[in-house]
Amino acid sequence: MSRSVSNLTTIVKEIADEMAQRPDRGEVANYIPELANVHNKRFGLVVVDGAGNVASAGDSEMPFSIQSISKVFTLTLALGLVGDKLWQRVGREPSGSPFNSIVQLEYERGKPRNPFINAGAIAVTDVILSGHQPREALGEILRFMRFVADDPSIAIDESVAASEQRTGFRNIALANYMKSFGVLDNPVNHVLGVYFHHCAIAMSCRQLAMAGRYLAWSGVNPSTGHSAVSAERARRINAVMLTCGHYDGSGEFAFRVGLPGKSGVGGGVLAVAPGKASIAVWSPGLDVHGNSHLGRVALEALSKRMGWSIFGV
Ligand code: GLN
Repeated sequence: MSRSVSNLTTIVKEIADEMAQRPDRGEVANYIPELANVHNKRFGLVVVDGAGNVASAGDSEMPFSIQSISKVFTLTLALGLVGDKLWQRVGREPSGSPFNSIVQLEYERGKPRNPFINAGAIAVTDVILSGHQPREALGEILRFMRFVADDPSIAIDESVAASEQRTGFRNIALANYMKSFGVLDNPVNHVLGVYFHHCAIAMSCRQLAMAGRYLAWSGVNPSTGHSAVSAERARRINAVMLTCGHYDGSGEFAFRVGLPGKSGVGGGVLAVAPGKASIAVWSPGLDVHGNSHLGRVALEALSKRMGWSIFGV
């Protein structure tokens, strides 16, 4: 093992040990009943470098609900399907409001601000669904996840999907509201069925870090050589992750961590250090914006110790 790899392994383990001691763990999401059962002591961290070396610590192999992190992959898929025309359906500006907010939609006549707030992700799901049955669209999303992660075992946690389907009243409202502006082409219940199921994909930190490699290395998985998107598209997805990936906590995340990142209410975060690393962290306790609290703290420590901030050391 090279010196820098053993250094990275040491840093990852140190950070996991530090996180285990922290009393401030945030609150586990409870608006999706199935997520409320997860213990907030859980913590996992995995870093993959360009040579395929993996540094991991904590609950790095335990699957968790990726929730909104799936929006990075559905955005990638939708851009592959319709290209830059996607930006007529959804904007790419930070919203400065919570992930499930409805107010902006009225002012902007049903066109969501960006693909990472719920309204935007629902619009992106509608694009993927067009011309397909919900089952086929979901199969396409799952195949893409397995392809980029290079792991055929990734699956949907049906109990999480069913739990959100029963209680997702805000998302049901958002989707109906967009439908009233004519911005969804497919039936609302089909779009939401696919949306709830892709949010319910379960992955471990290791699988997620593997899946993020195409974003860290200009569209190509450096281990398999497989291309997922063009370099330009990877760069732009990273830009949207940086500006919008943490909702109204995106500015704070950029300020503290300095890396493109996407959070989910399951407590996961996928972050990319372009050309250097793909990183996944999981700590289920959330801050007031619905982003993993210790996930952000751990990424701030990692980025600082490795000198990985895109804004300079
Ligand atoms: N499925 C969740 C929801 O729609 C995703 C939200 C999130 O992870 N921020 O509420």
